[in-house]
Amino acid sequence: VSEAWAVVVHGGCKPVSRDEEAPNRVGIEQAVTAAAEVLRGGGSALDAVEAAVRSMENNPTFNAGTGSVSNADGVVEMDASIMDGEQLQIGAVCALQKVRNPVSVARAMLQIEETLLTADGAQRFALENGFRLEEVAGREDHAAGCDTVGCVALDQRGQVAAATSTGGLQGSRVGRIGDSPLPGCGFYADSSVGGVSATGEGERIARVTLAARIMHLLESGEDPQRAAELGLAALERVGGDAGVIVLHRDGRIGWSFNATQIAVGWMTSSDTAAHALVAGMDDAPAEGRSRLN
Ligand code: ASP
Repeated sequence: VSEAWAVVVHGGCKPVSRDEEAPNRVGIEQAVTAAAEVLRGGGSALDAVEAAVRSMENNPTFNAGTGSVSNADGVVEMDASIMDGEQLQIGAVCALQKVRNPVSVARAMLQIEETLLTADGAQRFALENGFRLEEVAGREDHAAGCDTVGCVALDQRGQVAAATSTGGLQGSRVGRIGDSPLPGCGFYADSSVGGVSATGEGERIARVTLAARIMHLLESGEDPQRAAELGLAALERVGGDAGVIVLHRDGRIGWSFNATQIAVGWMTSSDTAAHALVAGMDDAPAEGRSRLN
């Protein structure tokens, strides 16, 4: 047992107004704290990432779960994923309607062989597994741009997990799926390497398999901050705004973004303050556009 643990969370890269800054920061802090409570008590990285993402899905500040935006038909369709870095098991749902916490449906899928269920099939699986259907109102007032939530965690047994959840892009084409439910694009976790969760323009992220690239960088010895920055540099080939959070299996974290702002937070067993900020605000701490520069 190494006993080191760590969690890093994002609440999307997006334009954040002055009024939205505090709710974003508070929501991130709550998510970090929810995951840290699990990890500190010896709980699993999977439980931790699910707890953090649920907390943001239940917070209308974020475009996921309750606060999801709607597509061109005015319908809320949500995508979510979770990955167990120990067994390399994946659960993901896309275009799921009327479920409050899509990440928990993804979590339930870790018990089955299938890794991705869509729309009616995802909803049927949710019903079979005791989830209730309810209207998810959908929000029109999110700032245009990207917004998604994600979390990567390392537990005291050395296991890494990642989760991502989104309402997608506002007004998007019906049936459009972004990077968030696609392994190697919006998320990945491998306990022998680390984990990643992304936010941003999903098509662009998918075209460079952003999470996979960052995993390879970690595997070849880059530190997590540098892996985050090099991953985003690779995105320049296709353009697009994105942000990533990265966790090394040893508990070091990194994050970076090329968009206007990103809401991020983290806590580790060696630094037990809940860090939470909207990076890119004029008065954001010196962390600036990425964690270390
Ligand atoms: N990546 C998400 C998507 O394309 C959106 C976002 O991060 O805001 O669906």
